[in-house]
Amino acid sequence: MGEWLRTHAHVVRRLQWLVVLVYAVLLVVPALLPLPGPTARAWNHLTVLAEFAFWGLWWPFVLVSMVLFGRLWCGVLCPEGTLTEWAARHGRGLGVPRWMRWGGWPFVAFVGTTVYGQMVSVYQYPKAALLVLGGSTVAALVVGYLYTRGKRAWCRYLCPVNGVFALLSKLAPMHYRVDDEAWRRSLQTGAEAAAHAGPAGTPQPIRIVRRAAAPAVDCAPMQPLRHMQGASGCHMCGRCSGHQGAIALQWRSPTHEVVHLGATEATHWQTWLIVFGLLGVAIGAFHWSASPWFVAIKQAIATWLVERDIYWPLADDAPWWLLTHYPDQNDVFTWLDGALLLAYIGASALVWGGVTLALLALAVRLAGPWSRQRLHHLAQALIPLAGLGVFLGLSAITLTLLRGEGVFVPWANAARLALLAAASAWSLWLAAAIVRHWQGQQPPPLAPARTLAALLPFALALAWVDSAWGWLFWWW
Ligand code: SF4
Repeated sequence: MGEWLRTHAHVVRRLQWLVVLVYAVLLVVPALLPLPGPTARAWNHLTVLAEFAFWGLWWPFVLVSMVLFGRLWCGVLCPEGTLTEWAARHGRGLGVPRWMRWGGWPFVAFVGTTVYGQMVSVYQYPKAALLVLGGSTVAALVVGYLYTRGKRAWCRYLCPVNGVFALLSKLAPMHYRVDDEAWRRSLQTGAEAAAHAGPAGTPQPIRIVRRAAAPAVDCAPMQPLRHMQGASGCHMCGRCSGHQGAIALQWRSPTHEVVHLGATEATHWQTWLIVFGLLGVAIGAFHWSASPWFVAIKQAIATWLVERDIYWPLADDAPWWLLTHYPDQNDVFTWLDGALLLAYIGASALVWGGVTLALLALAVRLAGPWSRQRLHHLAQALIPLAGLGVFLGLSAITLTLLRGEGVFVPWANAARLALLAAASAWSLWLAAAIVRHWQGQQPPPLAPARTLAALLPFALALAWVDSAWGWLFWWW
């Protein structure tokens, strides 16, 4: 498969531009059309079709593809990747600046787009989708035009979902494996003695055999090919397949990257993205519109304001690009709605993420001496559940859209329960493997009772995260 991708680059290139075309049509045309009426359906109104394509199919199933195939989407299909690389081929070719290398961008960009998307109701309105997705695409083009020569600096450093994709692809059962020994052999400069002997007493003639250097690989996300170990930064484009006779797409254990590489490669920004991003801000973003607590708090504050003749927070004159404003659809946010939305998502992030982090820290402490790196390592065991949460939240939009089309899925909640149980078991399995990995580094090994004690707070953290989805799908 890797070889096919490399040798059929022209086919991939055409496919990429086809995706760009479809993406542009689905993004731009609905924003120019009147909003669909209540009878509009995906098969008779482009706006409904685009809504379904972006939020019902594209987002949830791109997340699934990360876990199955790594970042194949990024390397082969993503329209922003194609556009930023194209712009970089024709742009200024500046070096990647220091500010862009800051490790916090994946967290900040994910949180920023998630929260802003909620403020403007990105899932419901095409103008908001054009602003959020189109804004990101324009930024990708500008960054591509300015920085690097034909590379994807945007994807590697700034894309709002780069961090999430990098985390999920750690679970993929395949990666481009680099065989260091084969690479070394391919670079070897050999010296062979000539087969025939020279005259006695004269030096043996030596024939130097130098292999021609393999042509450089055009790795768009700028991976350090020789030392690449995991799949998180690789876009699975196949361009390096067979390079130096040492790189090939291969199967691997889906635990390998989290358990073995995470011990040294897990960072605090990844922990923030898992704990406060995917298990905090994202939960708040999916919760607020369904939460009776949100409504109760809003009513209490509105009553309090009216009793004191303070009316400006109840005005709904914010522009649509700041807060949702569609009077014809009876959908307008007041300033109070906007402020509460931000406060609710922020509080959710602190509560869900804070408790999860505290339980992780307790698990690390029970497993042995405190180590911050171990905390970041163990946080990676939450990736399956964190990823599934975002999938469930997005697939709820899929189901709502399907309902609008007259398709009902009565088994949805049973499937959600099964998926939550499976993802929780997967996370627990990873945590157990991580703790066992620590034992190998720390003689004498932990007693089994101590291992269990370390896993107990982790299991509580899983139950705590599961309960967030319990509120959304069962208890509210
Ligand atoms: S390492 Fe680079 S060139 Fe190789 S498959 Fe990944 S993205 Fe493509």
